[in-house]
Amino acid sequence: MTKIGVFIETGDKAVKESVLGVITAAASGGEVVGFVLDGNARAYSEMLGAYGVSRLVNLSAPDTDFGMQPEAAGSVLALGAKAHDIDALLGVGSPVGNDILARAAVALQAPMALDCLDMDFDTREIKKSHFSGKAIAAFGMGEGVFVASLRPNVMEPVEKTVPCEVVDLDVSPDTEVRLIVKTLEKGNEDVKDLTEASVIITGGRPMGAAENFSILDACAGRLGAAVGASRAAVDAGYASHAMQVGQTGKIVSPKLYIACGLSGSVQHFAGMKTSKVIVAINTDKDAPIFTKSDYGIIADLFEVVPELTRVLEERRAG
Ligand SMILES: Cc1cc2nc3c(=O)[nH]c(=O)nc-3n(C[C@H](O)[C@H](O)[C@H](O)COP(=O)(O)OP(=O)(O)OC[C@H]3O[C@@H](n4cnc5c(N)ncnc54)[C@H](O)[C@@H]3O)c2cc1C
Repeated sequence: MTKIGVFIETGDKAVKESVLGVITAAASGGEVVGFVLDGNARAYSEMLGAYGVSRLVNLSAPDTDFGMQPEAAGSVLALGAKAHDIDALLGVGSPVGNDILARAAVALQAPMALDCLDMDFDTREIKKSHFSGKAIAAFGMGEGVFVASLRPNVMEPVEKTVPCEVVDLDVSPDTEVRLIVKTLEKGNEDVKDLTEASVIITGGRPMGAAENFSILDACAGRLGAAVGASRAAVDAGYASHAMQVGQTGKIVSPKLYIACGLSGSVQHFAGMKTSKVIVAINTDKDAPIFTKSDYGIIADLFEVVPELTRVLEERRAG
């Protein structure tokens, strides 16, 4: 039977939510073997078994903190994949996921594709977005093991309970460790990661000032959303580049994307095209964004967004 390995990305001793969609993708191809690098596999086994992980490998290496030594993490992940006879190795297309998977692919001498939208394990074909989202390209992944990361949230997690056994594997990295992270500083914990968010509310040029993003922050707080920005808003200094969505910013795929005062440029669309539901708020009924949205509100964002926040607050109170 085909065995699909999944790098179980974690943070603060919890499995990242977007890993569950990757497990669902893997479960469509065969038996799922999860690889944990933070030493807490036993704490995750019940939860991951509910999504189809039948074996969880608790990877460790003598005197190694994988969080601070990405080269060691990639090497040990590859050794785990070899030891468990994995046919394909998947993970979340996050900065950490892409980093560790790329290092594992080199160690495995395997072909690799990052930021995939879909994959078929029978035909060994993966799909990726190209030309700012105007085309979807299909790639054959050749013979032998392949490595791929999946764009966060493109695959809806589906429960599929199986018994999950935990096995330990302690191996030394078979690579020279040249890179050691000395310190990790946490960003603002109130700011949600755009690429992982299942709801995003984005402000465009008409936000007019950095302070005005507070109306989006308030609404995001009620929705459990992350706040994004168009490049026009970032270039004008209203928002940080980390918030930029689009061709030269973050690629996102939330369940709900609320675009406030965005015209709908191809470059912005390239970054959020795979959102499940797009809602646009724009004063111009002819704005191109309306041709690409599921729902459109022809109105001033400075009226609609606070009203939406008020209604959400009322609902919560009620
Ligand atoms: C190589 C390249 C890469 C790029 N990469 C990116 C990228 O990664 N991300 C990105 O976003 N852009 C990118 N751009 C820029 C892109 O082409 C657009 O210029 C930009 O997306 C426009 O931002 P916007 O929609 O906020 O502003 P605008 O195009 O100015 O649109 C503002 C919209 O708000 C509406 N509006 C005005 N007032 C209100 C109000 N009070 N309430 C509601 N609606 C209102 C207007 O009707 C208008 O439709 C890139 C461009 C190039 C050339």
